[in-house]
Amino acid sequence: MTMSADPQKTFYLETFGCQMNVHDSEKVIGTLVHEGYRQVETVEQADLILYNTCSIRDKAEQKVFHRLADYKKLLAQGKKFGVLGCVAQQEGEKIFERAPYVSLVCGSASYRNLPQMLIQLETGKQAGKPEAGKPLRVTGLDDRETDECFETEFTARTNPHRGYITIIEGCDKFCAYCVVPFTRGKERSRTSDSVLAEARQMADLGYTEIQLLGQNVNSYKDPAGKPGGKKTFAELLAAVGEVPGIRRVRFTTSHPRDFGRDIIDAIDAVPALCDHVHLPVQSGSNRVLNAMQRLYTREQYLERIAWMKAAKRDISITSDMIVGFPGETEEDFADTLSLLDKVGYDSVFTFKYSPRPNTPSLALEDAIPDEEKARRLEVLMTRQKEIQIIRYKKYIGAISEVMVEGKNEARGQWIGRTSQNKTLNFTAPNSSAPKVGTYVSVRATVSFPNSLLGEMVV
Ligand code: SAM
Ligand code: SF4
Repeated sequence: MTMSADPQKTFYLETFGCQMNVHDSEKVIGTLVHEGYRQVETVEQADLILYNTCSIRDKAEQKVFHRLADYKKLLAQGKKFGVLGCVAQQEGEKIFERAPYVSLVCGSASYRNLPQMLIQLETGKQAGKPEAGKPLRVTGLDDRETDECFETEFTARTNPHRGYITIIEGCDKFCAYCVVPFTRGKERSRTSDSVLAEARQMADLGYTEIQLLGQNVNSYKDPAGKPGGKKTFAELLAAVGEVPGIRRVRFTTSHPRDFGRDIIDAIDAVPALCDHVHLPVQSGSNRVLNAMQRLYTREQYLERIAWMKAAKRDISITSDMIVGFPGETEEDFADTLSLLDKVGYDSVFTFKYSPRPNTPSLALEDAIPDEEKARRLEVLMTRQKEIQIIRYKKYIGAISEVMVEGKNEARGQWIGRTSQNKTLNFTAPNSSAPKVGTYVSVRATVSFPNSLLGEMVV
C-alpha cells in the first residue's frame, strides 16, 4: 500500500515540550486543516507524520530521534515525515543525515511559511533545487533575526473553554544554560491591538479563560498600537482581563528582571487576572545567578516576592530551579534551599542542569557528577514537598471558585482549578452535577502536597 486510502490528505502530529509548543501545534493544525488536510489519531492513518520537538534538555531531543527511528519502517508505505520546533531549528540539515527519510525540517520562526512548504512536499519540488532521484528535502530554518510572528486566524484550539494567546515570541536574554534564544529566534512582540482582537474573538466563541504566552511575557514591548495607545505588559494584561466574557487571565512565563510592580497593581485592580505568578528563579545563590547571566540578584528577586506578598489578593507563587549548574557548591545549593523556605512556593519545577548546544555554559566544565545532581534534586524536591504540605493545609475550610475541567469517573470526583492554579477536585450531588467549563464554588476539606479535595457548595 502507498499512502492512506483516504481521498483527503491526512496528517498526524505529536507534540513534545512546553506550552509554547502545545500552542504552536494548535496553530500548525489550524494551518494544515485550512490547507485541506485532516488530522488523524494514529501514524498508520496518516500521509504526513509531524513531530513538534523540544530541545530544552538532553533527553527531550533523544526522545524525538528514538521516535523517528521507530517509524522508519513506515517510509515504505509512502508516508512523509517532518520535524518541527526547537530540535529542527537546532539540528537543522543534520537531521537529514541522522534520519534521511525525513522530508521537512522547520523551526518555529518559519511556521508562517508552512503553506508553501506543504506545496513543495506535495509536488515533490524543493525550492531552488529540483534534483531528480534525490530525496525530497524541504527546510524552513530562519536566522535569529526575523521580525515576524506566527499570527494565524486558523488556530485549532483543543479546549473550548480556555485557550492560549502568544503575545511575544523568541528570547534575547541568553541565560548561560539556555538553548531557547538559538531555537526560537529573537524577541518580537505582537501588537496589543492584534492580541486584544484575538481575545475578543475568543470571548465571542465562548472562551472564558485566556493564558497569555511567551518565553518572557513581561518583556513584552508593544510594536504599535492605536495612536498614543502602545501598551505596557501590565496594561495589556489589564485590557485582556477587561474583555467582556473573559473571567480568568493567566500569563506565563515572567522573567524577574522585567517584573514590574505595575503587574501586581493590575492583579489587584482587575478581578479577572488570576492570583498566580510563575517567576522562575533558577538559583538562590548570587554567585550562580551571576554565572547563569540571569540579570538579577537574590535580593532583587526577593523584592519582587515582597510586592506579591503585599498585594491585596493572596497571590500564589511558583518557580523553576536548576541544580548542578557548573561550579555550584554546597554553599550555593544551601542558598537555593533557604530561598525555598523564604518564599514559600506553591509549586516548583526542578531540573538537573543539562549542557546544551551553542549555549555559553557549554564552555564551562560540567563537573558535578550526575549522582550529585540527582542527590541535590532529591533534597530540593523533598524540602519543597514539606513546604507544600504545610501550605496546602491552610486552605482546608476555605471556599474557592473553580473552573470545572472534567470528571474522574473512577473516583466519582469532578476536576476543578482555582484562580491560583491549584487543582481542587470535588464531589457534588448528582442532582446538581456541574457542567465542564462552568465555574462553581467548592469548600476544601482535604489537602495533599499538590492538590486539594472538597465539596461543591450548593
Ligand atoms: N523563560 C523562562 C525563564 O527565563 O525563566 C524559562 C523558559 S525554559 C523553556 C523553562 C525552564 O527550563 C527554565 O526556567 C529552566 O529552569 C529550565 N532549563 C532551561 N535550560 C535548561 C538546561 N540547560 N538545563 C536544565 N534546565 C534548563
Ligand atoms: Fe532561556 Fe533565559 Fe530566555 Fe528564559 S530568559 S528562555 S531561561 S534564555
